[in-house]
Amino acid sequence: MTTPAVLILLGPPGAGKGTQARMLEEDFGFVQLSTGDLLRAAVASGSAAGMQAKAVMEAGGLVSDEIVLAILKDRMGQPDVTKGIILDGFPRTDGQAAALDELLAGAGQTVTAAISLDVDDEAMVGRIAGRFTCGGCGEGYHDDFKQPAQAGVCDKCGGTGFKRRADDNAETVRERLKAYHAQTAPLITYYDAKGVLQRIDAMGEIASIRMTLGNIVKGVSAQ
Ligand code: AMP
Repeated sequence: MTTPAVLILLGPPGAGKGTQARMLEEDFGFVQLSTGDLLRAAVASGSAAGMQAKAVMEAGGLVSDEIVLAILKDRMGQPDVTKGIILDGFPRTDGQAAALDELLAGAGQTVTAAISLDVDDEAMVGRIAGRFTCGGCGEGYHDDFKQPAQAGVCDKCGGTGFKRRADDNAETVRERLKAYHAQTAPLITYYDAKGVLQRIDAMGEIASIRMTLGNIVKGVSAQ
């Protein structure tokens, strides 16, 4: 592959985009770009963009394309993205998808693959409501499905501080699912029309989804 891979993970909140993006980082050396993480960092820093985004995120709505594109462009300008990127949670609107195409075209690139993680909406509320992450390294855990091997200690980095997202409550999750179906799901058709769409059943085991996804990435990287 001569140009860096640009992979998009599509799917509703709770589909496992973040988990799988982290695994693709480990397996292929790509960089995960999560607009949700970038926005949460902006909120934590108290920047003007973060202040504007905070209330929208807490309500489960979508932050304006203008803010999201500004933070994404900034991140894509950093040197570590040269091997390839995994976009997690972006694009979420057709305006963002068009802006991404334009941004990539400027660098002589296109989207390598958009991979839709297909899941049942009903299961997503339960998946999200119990999740938490290590405050040190970001490793994801779940009250029911994946506790650290030693209670209170991160398996990956040994950290002992964990955090839960403010928007991971049942009511906000329902709003986030609505936003996904109204504004983001149509992108499945958009990328299908471009011939770069792949779909996988993402209701199974994390390890088997990782393998399926890895095979797709190997396939598109070899083209
Ligand atoms: P996530 O971590 O991807 O679940 O995103 C958390 C929240 O950040 C979302 O519910 C939105 O409010 C906001 N957000 C993240 N990415 C985007 C995006 N690409 N466009 C608009 N809002 C976003």
